[in-house]
Amino acid sequence: MTIALWAPRVDPAFAAVIDAAVAAAVAPDAERIDREDVYPLAAVQALARAGLTAAGFPIEDGGGGRPLRDLVAVFEAVAAASAATATSLVTIFQAGAAIQLFGGEALRRRYLPRIAAGLVCSFAMTEARGGSDVRHLDTRARRGDGGWVIDGRKAFVTSASAAELFVLLAQTDAGVTAFAVPADAPGLALAVTPATRTIGLRNGPHVDLTLDGVRIPDDHRIGEDGHGVRAAATVLDHSRVLVAAIGCGIARAAFDGALAFADHRVVGDRHVIELQGIQWYLAELLAEIDAARLLTYEAASHLDAAGPTHHLPREAPARRAGLLDIQRWSASAKLVATRTAVHAALQAIQICGVRGCLETAPFGRYLRDAKTYEIAGGSSEVLKNTLGDYLVAAVDGPG
Ligand SMILES: Cc1cc2nc3c(=O)[nH]c(=O)nc-3n(C[C@H](O)[C@H](O)[C@H](O)COP(=O)(O)OP(=O)(O)OC[C@H]3O[C@@H](n4cnc5c(N)ncnc54)[C@H](O)[C@@H]3O)c2cc1C
Repeated sequence: MTIALWAPRVDPAFAAVIDAAVAAAVAPDAERIDREDVYPLAAVQALARAGLTAAGFPIEDGGGGRPLRDLVAVFEAVAAASAATATSLVTIFQAGAAIQLFGGEALRRRYLPRIAAGLVCSFAMTEARGGSDVRHLDTRARRGDGGWVIDGRKAFVTSASAAELFVLLAQTDAGVTAFAVPADAPGLALAVTPATRTIGLRNGPHVDLTLDGVRIPDDHRIGEDGHGVRAAATVLDHSRVLVAAIGCGIARAAFDGALAFADHRVVGDRHVIELQGIQWYLAELLAEIDAARLLTYEAASHLDAAGPTHHLPREAPARRAGLLDIQRWSASAKLVATRTAVHAALQAIQICGVRGCLETAPFGRYLRDAKTYEIAGGSSEVLKNTLGDYLVAAVDGPG
């Protein structure tokens, strides 16, 4: 008897659409994308045609109007085949969500349908001096010619090698502010160096972006002047759940590979899966992955139920409580799911012995991708700080 280990946690018909698209467009190229460290353009375009890159956008903006919970299923399945492709979808989601949630009408109309049709996007917050803390930035935006003029340098920008649109943070006189900047804007350039190639999430080098007197119209400002940190944090609250889904996908792939190996490999007169020591490794992983998946889908349901709390007035108590709740679930999900992915990849290598260590096996890729996502998009330390802040608020402050 063969049991389906990872039952869909969304509408099975939608899960079947996802699985078909992943099998046709993502899985066949996964190993090459990682080895060559190139952007998976064909896969992303195929996923866009299947309606999966912007499934969460409102229908009137060209999206599928689906809840975050459905997006979790997309990111989990794509990552089980290729985390590099899944991370390409994360940056599209982040840029699109920033514009959808905080952009003006003109910006939404201009970009959301194009993003839904497959426009490649990046989301650039980090700078050389600021990774975990983006409350003060060296990239400056000043008013000029009825719009904005931006100068500076953003670092480690995922998907930048193919991006057609950047959503980035810059410092204005009012504070940190978000902007949409087309990739063909004069003065914008990519700085590709050996230091931009990473061990994991290899969807092309994570390059620096240089901005030298880049001019954009005022309607390309996203949200209010000086409110960029809040906008970015809201986007991250959502995208962290999708990164958690990527962790679940990597963990599943590692587990499936190890289980298949243990089922077929004979040592002495027994199959490896008959060895109790190996069964215990697999049993622990099964429980950990089940827990990570349940937490990730539950986190998505919390965000879906909470709705766009950022639209509430700043002083509303419900806004603060809602935000804290969202941050709690998204931080917990990313923390646990990426840790589970690292553990699953490590244990899969152990179970497969030398065959787990081969360059031709996928387990090294799983480990590199999983480990990298314990840092990118909010490191595990920063997530634990978020949970710590939540607990302090829960007991109503120290003392
Ligand atoms: C593969 C990859 C892709 C990336 N893509 C993007 C992208 O597309 N856009 C983008 O903007 N950024 C991107 N980044 C940058 C990423 O967001 C940062 O790496 C991350 O925020 C951590 O910042 P840092 O690496 O500068 O670490 P630092 O801020 O220098 O921190 C160093 C160490 O200290 C820890 N630390 C920092 N502050 C605290 C604290 N208060 N308490 C406890 N520990 C702390 C960190 O967790 C880390 O372990 C990417 C990174 C990677 C690895």
